[in-house]
Amino acid sequence: MSKAKVIDGKQIAKVVRESLKGKINTLKEKGITPGLAVVLVGEDPASQVYVGMKEKAFKKMEMVSETFRQPADISQKDLITLIHKLNADDRFHGILVQLPLPKHLDEQTILDHIDDNKDADGLLPASMGKMVLGMEGPLPCTPHGMLMLLKHSGIETSGKHAVVIGRSNIVGKPIANLLLQKRELGNCTVTLCHSRTKNLPEICKQADILVAAIGSPEFVDSSFVKEGAVILDVGVNRVDAPDRKRGYKLVGDVNYSDVEDVASAITPVPGGVGPMTITMLIYNTVYLAENTL
Ligand code: NAP
Repeated sequence: MSKAKVIDGKQIAKVVRESLKGKINTLKEKGITPGLAVVLVGEDPASQVYVGMKEKAFKKMEMVSETFRQPADISQKDLITLIHKLNADDRFHGILVQLPLPKHLDEQTILDHIDDNKDADGLLPASMGKMVLGMEGPLPCTPHGMLMLLKHSGIETSGKHAVVIGRSNIVGKPIANLLLQKRELGNCTVTLCHSRTKNLPEICKQADILVAAIGSPEFVDSSFVKEGAVILDVGVNRVDAPDRKRGYKLVGDVNYSDVEDVASAITPVPGGVGPMTITMLIYNTVYLAENTL
């Protein structure tokens, strides 16, 4: 079999971002510039990088994006007060609290204070509930981005067997649910696997669409992959690479070189699922701004 087609997330992200520009202009003509408030607590280096990337992407789209940097020792009460202020601030249509938060703060309690109508991440209980019920609402960014990758690659999902490895609230559960929905880019038969799943390679080998969202470098090899399967690799893992200037490189949950002769299409890491996550954050912010009309 020939080598798998590369699903180019950077290119598809560009196309989706371009398609949002018309909507943004229409909103601006009505006096609304879609805006996102990001709350960043403490100095976590990875969070700083992610927030920097989000700021840059929103600036490029000529949207409002403001980061509210808070000290690592901020009290839960003060953080909730800030969220209430942002809920009431009309400049912001979406609010995102960058996770993880320092240990003394209760993430769920804090997230619960974000107005459901400003759920930029699509991860609040109200949005997740709507997603499960097949109702309109902001969708979780990474899984929604994965659907866009399938759509723009012309990959049919209806009737396919999708196997998802990983049951996190931000990736595994929502992507399994979206692929199951009775609508376009859904209608899969879905199997959801996790660390207690028995015979994992055998189950994965039945997949027409295989999603790896584990957080374990190059865990999935060709023994998991059926000939012609489509693979979405969500994992982002840092591994030592002494030959690289930075001393490390990023790899996915899939052993790319081992599966590329077996799969029919695959997302690379980096440059696959990653670029779609911020794109869908932009999408959600535009969507939430449109909802205020
Ligand atoms: P997570 O919350 O740590 O969940 C990992 C899941 O994988 C869990 O459900 C766990 O099972 C399962 N798992 C772990 N080891 C396993 C094994 N040996 N066999 C089968 N299942 C196993 O991770 P996450 O937040 O979903 O993230 C997953 C990966 O995606 C990470 O590398 C993360 O960095 C990356 N990610 C990327 C993006 C992006 O934008 N590209 C966005 C989000 C996450 P249990 O539930 O049984 O523990």
